[in-house]
Order: sequence, then structure tokens, then C-alpha cells
Amino acid sequence: MELETIRKRLLARREELASRAAATDADLRHEHEPLSADFSEQVVQRENEDVLRGLGDAARGELARINRALARIDAGNYLSCAVCGVEIDPRRLQAVPYTDRCTHCAH
Ligand SMILES: [Zn+2]
Repeated sequence: MELETIRKRLLARREELASRAAATDADLRHEHEPLSADFSEQVVQRENEDVLRGLGDAARGELARINRALARIDAGNYLSCAVCGVEIDPRRLQAVPYTDRCTHCAH
């Protein structure tokens, strides 16, 4: 498996997540929609904010994992399990490119 290919995939995914996180942040700052004067409208808006915040947090969590994976590639230990040190199954890395654990240690 080509590490450079995985690296490119991770970088592309990082771009995507970064712009998603930025977009949810912008929505949360009400750049697109000012807070309604109507109370029941505000309730709906706040519920939407919770959803947005959840999406932003999820994107940021994945971003952190991707940054760790990229650091592991640069450090040259991307292919070994962070827990037991065995080589991680390449098929697993294809499916979950930001994992740092072998199938065994992930469970
Ligand atoms: Zn392991």
C-alpha cells in the first residue's frame, strides 16, 4: 500500500472537515440568520445550534485524529499499532486511515 496515497486522502479529508467546521462556526455566529424576535422561533434556532455544534465537534474530533495520523506518517510509525507495535492490517488502514491501532487492540 502506498503511504503517499493515504497521506493525500488524509489531507483531502482534512480540507473537507476544516471547511465544514468553519461553515458550522459561521452559522453559529449567525452570519446567515439573525436570532429571531419570536420566542418559539428562537427555540427552533437554538435546537439547530445544538445540532450544528454537534456537527462541528464531530468534524473537529475527526480533524484531530487525522492530524495525529499525518504526524505518525511523518514520524514513520504509521503502519505499527500504537499499543502493541504489530503491523496494522493494510485493509484496516484503507478502511479507517486515521486509526493507530491494530484490529485486536481496537476492541
Ligand atoms: Zn495492537
